[in-house]
Amino acid sequence: MHVGILGAGVIGITTAYSLLRRDIRVTVIDRASGVARGASFGNGGQLSYSYVNPLASPDLLKTLPRMIAGRDPAFRVQPIPSVKLAQWGLQFLMNCRSAITARNTTRLTRLALFSRAALHRIIEEHRFDFHFRKNGKIVLLSSAAEMSHARKACWMKNALGCSMRVLDRAALIDLEPSLTDGPNDFVGGIHAETDEAGDSCAFTQRLVDLCYQSPDFQLQLGTDIKRIRHENRRITAIETDQGDFTADAYVLALGAESPLMAKTLRLNLPVYPLKGYSVTVPLGKSAPVASVTDSRNRTVFCALGHHLRIAGIAELVGYNDHVDRNRIDQLIGLAQKRFPRGGDYTTVISRWQGWRPLTPSSLPLIGPAPKYDNLFVNTGHGLFGWTLACGSAELIAEWINPRYRCSMEF
Ligand SMILES: Cc1cc2nc3c(=O)[nH]c(=O)nc-3n(C[C@H](O)[C@H](O)[C@H](O)COP(=O)(O)OP(=O)(O)OC[C@H]3O[C@@H](n4cnc5c(N)ncnc54)[C@H](O)[C@@H]3O)c2cc1C
Repeated sequence: MHVGILGAGVIGITTAYSLLRRDIRVTVIDRASGVARGASFGNGGQLSYSYVNPLASPDLLKTLPRMIAGRDPAFRVQPIPSVKLAQWGLQFLMNCRSAITARNTTRLTRLALFSRAALHRIIEEHRFDFHFRKNGKIVLLSSAAEMSHARKACWMKNALGCSMRVLDRAALIDLEPSLTDGPNDFVGGIHAETDEAGDSCAFTQRLVDLCYQSPDFQLQLGTDIKRIRHENRRITAIETDQGDFTADAYVLALGAESPLMAKTLRLNLPVYPLKGYSVTVPLGKSAPVASVTDSRNRTVFCALGHHLRIAGIAELVGYNDHVDRNRIDQLIGLAQKRFPRGGDYTTVISRWQGWRPLTPSSLPLIGPAPKYDNLFVNTGHGLFGWTLACGSAELIAEWINPRYRCSMEF
């Protein structure tokens, strides 16, 4: 069997790896000149297994009017939403009900823990370097109400297999002394001890090197996919600017652009680009060891090798890839305040924007596509695609070849 994977982000390449392990021939196609050049390039680096909460929640609903009115500096929505955004937004609102949020959180957490096991297997077998660290994650909380809410959330997550606890400010500083350098605006926080961090772009590159060791692997870069052709229920060819490509089955893994390609098949994938930004600077003398999430400002700080990555911002502005200088300055400003000695903010290594492929429920779409017998999807991983990649790849590989069960119910 020969499978064509459309997209060479972390999702496409982990899918290739999982299929190769099952002795399936794969070809990956991407328009970029290298792998992981989309959202997988400059993301926050957090392997946030314990904290893959869906964006849609009753809590977010409470703050939504403020966000839509433009009073949340970390959020922006286009003033006149497109039909697609309006439809997506309605589905998003439906997912803000507490029972649905709880169900989505459970499903995402299960997939995240499954992904951790899959990533650890790769690390143990191949031992390649992608700045991987078992550093834990801290989420700063700014009120007593948030602390009490967090206690309940930790209890629920721990029952699923996470290892989270709520610490007061003093205990948090004991754990992460670099927090003393910043403002006294948090009363405590969550510590997710078993969360990790790593560079998803470096990981994807190392994984491709590994895939190349198999004669069954091919990577076709610099190839823009224009359309997917079909006859009745079967995909017959992938039309690209380099000519037609054919295989026995296909996996759509084009990240936030997946719905654009699905449209050529009259499939309506509920995925919308949630634009975010990151800045990378050289690591300073007092950088955080743990990954730190400043929940009030929706910003994450993560040390990756010799660099500090600062990521955040959520914009619903369609497929706009402009790197807004004000947003970059906003992230640098927050980092300078929180970790004044955490990085060399005068030497910015990268200013980046990316599109999180977000579904209304935050649950990724993994499995056979409707209407077509030889098309599969592995997309819509939203805010946590790096965290969920290795498990999602195992699941889709099992869908394609059910002979190899990976025993995970998602
Ligand atoms: C600011 C920010 C911070 C984030 N932080 C984290 C984090 O800390 N932890 C975490 O787990 N996740 C994080 N994420 C989310 C994560 O980065 C994404 O969910 C994940 O990278 C999605 O991977 P993907 O392979 O689906 O998409 P992508 O990496 O975007 O890959 C899609 C690929 O498809 C290709 N493509 C698209 N259209 C075509 C076409 N027509 N022809 C050919 N090729 C095409 C693109 O070139 C691209 O290579 C963050 C995202 C952002 C934006």
